[in-house]
Amino acid sequence: MSRRPTPPRKQQRLAPLPVPHQVETGPDGADYQVRPVPAARARKTYRCPGCDHEIRSGTAHVVVWLADGDDIAIDDRRHWHTPCWANRATRAPTRKWS
Ligand SMILES: [Zn+2]
Repeated sequence: MSRRPTPPRKQQRLAPLPVPHQVETGPDGADYQVRPVPAARARKTYRCPGCDHEIRSGTAHVVVWLADGDDIAIDDRRHWHTPCWANRATRAPTRKWS
């Protein structure tokens, strides 16, 4: 069986834009879009699901939402402390203690 290179497609107009933010695996194993929120854009206080503490306004953090979802997922986005998101695998509430 010889493999032929995939011919280039002519119709690329609907190709997705270059990824403006990254996709990472969340604590539940699902893929999440991750976008940093700079301090200047953090104008509200949020509750971080990683540590259950507040993210004060003016604190740079990240916002994540389900990558598989659409606009609904964005409505359900979560704000995390940047280090909490980075360490989500070790502080996930579903970890087993026994
Ligand atoms: Zn946190």
